[in-house]
Amino acid sequence: MDAESADMDRISADGLYRLLLSGYGEPRWWSDDPFMVMVQAILVQNTAWRNVEKATAIIGNMMTPEKLYHLDGEELESLIRPCGFQKAKARTIKGIIEWFRTYAYDAAEAARNTVAVLRRELLSIKGIGEETADAILVYALHKPSFIIDAYTRRLLGRLGYGFKDDGEIRRFFEEGLPRDARLFGYLHWLILDHSIQSCRKAPRCASCPIAAHCRHASIALTSGSSDSRSMKSTTEP
Ligand code: SF4
Repeated sequence: MDAESADMDRISADGLYRLLLSGYGEPRWWSDDPFMVMVQAILVQNTAWRNVEKATAIIGNMMTPEKLYHLDGEELESLIRPCGFQKAKARTIKGIIEWFRTYAYDAAEAARNTVAVLRRELLSIKGIGEETADAILVYALHKPSFIIDAYTRRLLGRLGYGFKDDGEIRRFFEEGLPRDARLFGYLHWLILDHSIQSCRKAPRCASCPIAAHCRHASIALTSGSSDSRSMKSTTEP
């Protein structure tokens, strides 16, 4: 954390969660089907959620590890084509099926392991990076591993925390909140909702539930910039 940010009084991780929760209401949960979460967490890489929904509809009742395991690479690629990068994503889906198979396709069995062991195993699968691994840990295996994405980094940067890297962001959330996978999952979704509704590329600070704690908003107001009060619309969150 840089000196300027350290001098500022920043809201706690718990305070941030509570304000987002009161601003946006109880968030969604991804899915109660662990395998669906694993596949969709791979499909959503570098594409919009609507394309994941299209591919999920095409996969239909084939969305089980047993059924997808028996498809060859080209068959799987054709099912997930709406998401793009189908060759690489099909290979990664095959990789996670192989991994899941070692637990007899039983998420509860896999979840007997520690977060550290599971995270290491998931990261060893080609095509699974930290964000995808953490999403699978939280939403499929119900293990507390905070998910850090571009929206989270942008929000914290605007709030003025001045974190130097993802390690500092992880410590902020994991040490500032109960180690609860459901809470981590809810907060990730609240940050997503907030980034789509308020803290967009062109932020809509006038209606933001955390504006009172935001460095970006206070600087914009002090300088008289219209940015913090604007209702600019943009197609890009
Ligand atoms: S006040 Fe504006 S910049 Fe700050 S968190 Fe809210 S929307 Fe984002």
